[in-house]
Order: sequence, then C-alpha cells, then structure tokens
Amino acid sequence: MKAGLLAALLAWPLAAFATTAWHAGAVEPTSTRAAAFDATLQKVVGPESLETSTAAYDADLERLRALLPAGDIAREVRFRSVYCGSTKWKDPKQGLAYSDEALKRARDARDAVSEARSMLCRATYIMLISGSQRGLPEVEKVIALLGDGQDQQLLAEALELRGDILSLLGEQAKAMLDFQRARAAYRGAGIDKEVEPLMLSIAVAYRRMGDWPQAQRHFTAAAKRMQDKGDWESVATNLIQLGFLHGESGAPDKALAVFREAERVAIDHDDAFSVNAARLGIAESQVALGQPDTAMATLQMARSGFAAAHDNASEDMLLMLTGQALARQGRHQEALLRYREALPLVQQDGNERYLAMLFKAQAASKEALGQAQAALADYKSYNDLQMKLQGKMRLEQSRMLEYEYEIRRRDFENRQLRAEAEVKQQEVAALEAVRRWQWLAIALGLLLVALLASMAWRQWRRSRRLRDLTLLDPLTGAANRPGIEREASRALNAAQQSGTPLSLLMLDLDHFKAINDRYGHAAGDKVLRATTAAWQAQLRGRDPLGRVGGEEFVVVCPDTSLEQALVVANRLREAANLLRFDDIDPALRVSVSIGAAQSRKAEESCDALLDRADAALYRAKQQGRDRVES
Ligand code: GH3
Ligand code: MG
Ligand code: MG
Repeated sequence: MKAGLLAALLAWPLAAFATTAWHAGAVEPTSTRAAAFDATLQKVVGPESLETSTAAYDADLERLRALLPAGDIAREVRFRSVYCGSTKWKDPKQGLAYSDEALKRARDARDAVSEARSMLCRATYIMLISGSQRGLPEVEKVIALLGDGQDQQLLAEALELRGDILSLLGEQAKAMLDFQRARAAYRGAGIDKEVEPLMLSIAVAYRRMGDWPQAQRHFTAAAKRMQDKGDWESVATNLIQLGFLHGESGAPDKALAVFREAERVAIDHDDAFSVNAARLGIAESQVALGQPDTAMATLQMARSGFAAAHDNASEDMLLMLTGQALARQGRHQEALLRYREALPLVQQDGNERYLAMLFKAQAASKEALGQAQAALADYKSYNDLQMKLQGKMRLEQSRMLEYEYEIRRRDFENRQLRAEAEVKQQEVAALEAVRRWQWLAIALGLLLVALLASMAWRQWRRSRRLRDLTLLDPLTGAANRPGIEREASRALNAAQQSGTPLSLLMLDLDHFKAINDRYGHAAGDKVLRATTAAWQAQLRGRDPLGRVGGEEFVVVCPDTSLEQALVVANRLREAANLLRFDDIDPALRVSVSIGAAQSRKAEESCDALLDRADAALYRAKQQGRDRVES
C-alpha cells in the first residue's frame, strides 16, 4: 500500500515540479528556433503545464530538446533543469545523475531558478531511491532558495512537495500549512483556479488524519471532474486514493471494487504506473477479505509490473502484502522471511503506520509458530506504535481543528475589520454629508446675507435716487429750488465755520417771455436746457447751479470773493450770449442778467443773502439787462 501511495504521490510532483516558470522574456530570442524553444519552455514551466498529462508533458520535453539551439549555454541550463523531470529516466539513479549535472550547470551559470528546479528533480529521485524522508532536506533547500519569491509557481510546487512528504510522514497539520502556502504561491503566480494535484494532496492529508468523509467527498468529486475532462491518469489516481480510504476505514469489499475500477481505467489508458498501484490495493483488499490465493496471484502481476517500470519504491509493500497472504495460507515461516526483508525498507521510509502494520503481522505469525515471547515483543512494539499513531492522529486532528479555528478566527477577524472599516467609512460619509450640508447652509446663509445686502443697497440707492430726484429740476437736470437752497445753506454754514468767503449769483434770462411767445413753449424749454448745459460746462461741477424759477437760476460759489464771483458771472453771461439755435432761428440770441452778492457777516441767513443777490439782479435788469451787478 505504501508503495502505491508513494507512487501515486510522486506521479504528481514528477509531472508537476518540472513545470516551473521560466521568466518570460528574460532573454530576447535571437532566432526563430530560439523563440520556439522559449515558447515551448514557457509551456513546460508555466500554468499550462499543471493541466498537462504525463505523456503530453514528456512530448513537450522532447520537442524542447529538438529545439535547443546548439551552443546556447543559457538555454541549455534551462533545458536541463526541466528535462531532468522526464519520465524517460526509467532508473531513478539515471535521473539523479542527470539532475546532479543539471544542478551543477545551473550553479555555474548563476541561474537560480534553474538551480531550484534541478534541486527539486534531485529531491524526487532521492525520495525514490532512499525513501521519502530523505527528500525533505533537499526540498527545504529549494524553498529557501526561492524565498525571495522570484518564481512563485516553482515555489508553490516545492511547497506542495514538502507538504506531500510531511503528510506521508504523518505531519498532517504542518502539511496542510504547506498546502495553504502553496495555494497562496500559485495565486501569486497568477493561477487563480484550484490546482488539481494540490487539491488531491489536501484530500490525501485529510484521509491520513482520519477525516474520511472530507477526503471521500474530494476523491469522488475529483474523479468525476477528471473523467469529464478526459484526464484518465487523474481519474485512476483519485480512485486509488478512494480505495485506500475504504481499506483504512474497514471496508475491504468497497476498496476492492474501487481498486478494480482504477485498474480497468489505467489499463484502458496505458497508465502502467496506476495499473501497478491499483493491483497493490487489490491484493491488500483480497488479503483483508481472506482470499490469500488470489492475492498472491495479484501480487505476482504487480511485482512484474513494477519490475518492468524499474520502480522498486513499492518493494516494501510488495513484501509485506506477500507475507500477509502467506500467513493467511498458514505459511508463517515464509511470511516472517518477507517481513524481515521489508522491515529496513519500511524503517528507511519513516512511515510509522506501515511499521505498525508490519509488527502486527509479524506478531501474528510468530504467535502462530508458538514463539510467544517474540510475538509478545512484536505486539508490544505494535501497540506502542499504534498508541503513538492514534495519539498523533488525535493530535493532528486537534492541530487541524486549531488550524481551522485559526483560519476561521482570522476570517472572522477580517470580516470584523472589514465591517468596522465599513462602519467607519459610513461614519465618514455621514460626517462628510453633514459637513456638506453645513457648507451648503453656510453658503445659503452667505447668499441670503448677500441678497439682503444687495436688496438693502438697492433700496438705499433707490431712496437716494428718489431723494435726488426730489431735489432736481426735471427739465434741466440742475438742482431745483429746495436742492439749491440746501446747497446754499450748507455752503454758507461751511463758509461761516471756516471763515472763508461765499458768493451767490442770481441769474434771470432776459425777455424770455418774448422767446416763448415767438417760438413757442417747447422752443423756450430747449433754450432753458441749452443754457443750463452751457453754464454747467462753465462751472464744471465746482459751484452748484440750481433753477429757482421759470427762467431764474442761482449759482452758489463757495470759497469765492465777490470779485471772483463777478468774473464767474461774466463768463456765464458770455456763455449765454454765445448760444446759437439754428433749428429754432439762427438769429435767436440769449442774454442773461446776473446779480451777485457775497455773504457778509456770520449771522447772515441764506434768505438774506439770496435777497441781496436778487436785489442786485433787479438792478442789472434796471440798467439794461445782459449785465452783472453786485
Ligand atoms: P425780463 O427780461 O424782465 O426778465 O422779461 P421776461 O419776459 O424774461 O420776464 P417775465 O417774468 O415777464 O416772463 C417770464 C416768462 O418765462 C414767463 C413764462 O412764460 C416763461 N416761463 C416760465 N417758466 C417757463 C418754462 O418752464 N418754460 C418756458 N418755455 N417758459 C417759461
Ligand atoms: Mg423772471
Ligand atoms: Mg426774465
């Protein structure tokens, strides 16, 4: 059984470990031949290789060999690091020698990935020659070498192989850890779907720790899956595993049926390896079912099959089963001979389950031969081992439970962290929303304030304009009587306070009634507007001008003496004279009489000042108009 196990186990790594990834594009192809070599190499070491059958994989290796450009040392190193995994090496020693050479060349070329790949080849051959546990340190080296993660797929394959060895040695929890790491490394290599060999390894570990339902679920499902895919090698492998499971769980009849099915599938598809493994299983079931004669015949077939395949890794199992069959036939002496031969082989491999089995069988035969003392010693060895194994199984199961608990706990923690992060995110989002609303409220508030301010300002401007309008003469745009009176009294106050002079001019257009009478009221209005504009141009806004009657105006001249005011008055008088109204009558002339007065005393009122200016105006009229009087 052990050999079958080991063989089934090794069938995977042999096909798979040599399939490690070469860094794509590390070397530019120099010719189409080199390019074809690189493409094939990528196929052999890349994810694709994980799904290739052993035969197709070997064919790829041969193609690679044909494509290898002569004298290309770098490519030859890479080639050797994968070619060492060919099943063409019938004798493991041959394979080991080739792997050693491949390893040496990879080291010389400082090609770390090829080095790791060659070492993995070596490890597998060492396992075949000297037992599984001897391969362990070699695989450890590969894992250490690939520690920097330069080739994730190769690392995954190495971890998977270490897990397989640990599982075979009974370290299921450690093996499971390696399988999980391998799974992560496959993901790291971009291989997202489940890798079938890895799943098989995991299921085998479940089987070995006695979690039969879990393992059975996997083997049954995988066999079906592989059948649909037409991967018959894998179908046989899974059926053989299912057979072991039935055998171990005390159902040799079920085991026999499944092994037979595996044998049939393997024969139909020329899978010599599985045929031999299945036959070992059949023989074991037949012994358990009390059919030693048929078991002997089956074992004979298996023995010649293994010999044809140069596979002696199952020698211990063959010996043990032959011994058991002989014992069943009552040939205990012969049985003991087989057991004695098997013992060192089993010990070398380090599989305590088989060692226990051996002691038990040996004890039974010794007992039958009347060697009570020796039988007792063997029973004791068996018992000790069995206790140890059961303890170990329980330990592994509890470790597994812990491990599963750890995974679940981590899962739970992760979920919790995720949930917390989500809550925090929601809080942040809510806070942001609140903040947004706050900003919106502030913005709206500011807008409202701005709106109110603008409304207030407009209101203020309107009221000011209204007020201005009430102080303006609509016809001429100059100040009206209240307006100019306000200007006058303001200027008078300022003048009285500062002690500066202030002068007033009172203006009255001459014979304006005649203009109205002759050209009409509208023409008169036009003359009024033109005259006002001409004066405002003269005054340039410095001295306010106001219309106080129909054709009467007042000019306030702050900070102006009477002499200066007279100059201003004459300028205004002349400006009126210069006006022309060609659209009314080119001959129309306008003149104005002006009376000027300067404020005298601090206590003089505005009215008094206006009266005096008015009086001066009266004099100007009296003295012939178109003149200035003070
Ligand atoms: P004087 O030289 O003595 O000042 O003679 P005058 O005709 O200018 O004086 P009077 O006071 O007799 O006439 C003023 C005229 O001004 C009377 C009126 O028809 C006219 N007037 C008053 N307001 C307006 C107005 O807004 N538009 C027009 N077109 N004429 C007006
Ligand atoms: Mg008048
Ligand atoms: Mg007049």
